[in-house]
Amino acid sequence: MTSQSNPLMSITPRPQLQFERGEGAWLYDAAGRAWLDWLQGWAVNSLGHAPKLVADTLYQQACTLITPSPAFNNTPATQLAQWLVDHSCMDQVFLANTGAEANEGAIKLARKWGRLHKDGAFEIITFTSAFHGRTIAAMSASGKPGWDVYFPPQVPGFPKATLNDIESVRRLIGPHTVGIMLEPIQGEGGVNAASRAFLQALRALCDEHQLLLIFDEVQTGCGRTGPLFAYQASGIEPDIMTLGKGLGAGVPISALLAKAACSVFEHGDQGGTFCGNPLTAAVGLAVMQHVAQPAFLANVVARGAQLQSGLIELSARFGLGEVRGAGLLWAIELGDERAEAVMRAARDNGLLINNPRPHCLRIMPALNTTAAEIETGLALLGKTLAQFYAPSAQKHRTDMLAAYK
Ligand SMILES: *Cc1c(COP(=O)(O)O)cnc(C)c1O
Repeated sequence: MTSQSNPLMSITPRPQLQFERGEGAWLYDAAGRAWLDWLQGWAVNSLGHAPKLVADTLYQQACTLITPSPAFNNTPATQLAQWLVDHSCMDQVFLANTGAEANEGAIKLARKWGRLHKDGAFEIITFTSAFHGRTIAAMSASGKPGWDVYFPPQVPGFPKATLNDIESVRRLIGPHTVGIMLEPIQGEGGVNAASRAFLQALRALCDEHQLLLIFDEVQTGCGRTGPLFAYQASGIEPDIMTLGKGLGAGVPISALLAKAACSVFEHGDQGGTFCGNPLTAAVGLAVMQHVAQPAFLANVVARGAQLQSGLIELSARFGLGEVRGAGLLWAIELGDERAEAVMRAARDNGLLINNPRPHCLRIMPALNTTAAEIETGLALLGKTLAQFYAPSAQKHRTDMLAAYK
């Protein structure tokens, strides 16, 4: 199909494949060919493809109440909000549909708080390589290379600091600063973790200067990195947090959460036609109740450790670079800029992976993936890497393994 004959706007170079159905870790085309899916809708399908829990919940709720109006209460929205409050450090919730929309809400909430409590301060310090979504304000908050010139003019008020460089943050604090916003682990940026020490220093900086700390957990939240929310591994608490992606396990729902002291929206400040609709809220609740089970999160950690050691072994075998991540969000550095070619070759071999940067691959399996599926994926990745890289010398391999201990 040429881009002119396709009724869909061409926004990305999509492969010729048409996936017909999915089941758990696997995607199938019409001819029945299978791909092991390590994208899972970009870290969205926390329960894999077509999970029965989501299908059943959607059906039940669709037969009960789909959308009464955002101006009325509905039971699933109230229950999901209460569940999120009970299982996090947050006090109130606004339900939305996408990560970008939740982040827009976070930005609005911070600006509102600044107007009420900080003399009109509105600047939110964000980070190079950050990704916060594709609305104009969320793109302005993002730090993806080149994004600053995509759709000028940018929304002002998002000065950029460098991740894990506390002085770069401190330097940007001024009379208009209202908050600091970041992903605990930058996902689209290539799985770059903010260190525990850095997050704790940010919390201290926010307390010192009366700033709001905003965590974009659209990718890291909902069990993706091991704990229910990534902030729980940092020893500190943000003031505002956003969730998306895995929250609906494939169904579009997101959330903006805030502590009571900064939950300052007044009537008319925030809303949205589909925000808090019972259809997706019921799914969010069912998914979160499932994901929060200790055995479920233990599987994320165990499969993550298995994936990590397999990736370290592959990196050593082929003389590649750093393996980094947490839970079931991982990246491997290639040491060159062939990530796109490797991604395509993996696809030809029946494995779907992502190349967030030219020099690294990202892996985001379903959170309920099995040990056998991880082994299959590692074997397919190994086969693919062998098409590009020669096995490296034994000594190098031993050195590399030691370096990761
Ligand atoms: C994907 C993502 C977003 C944007 O979510 P959408 O649902 O695509 O709007 C925002 N922040 C982070 C960290 C993300 O990974």
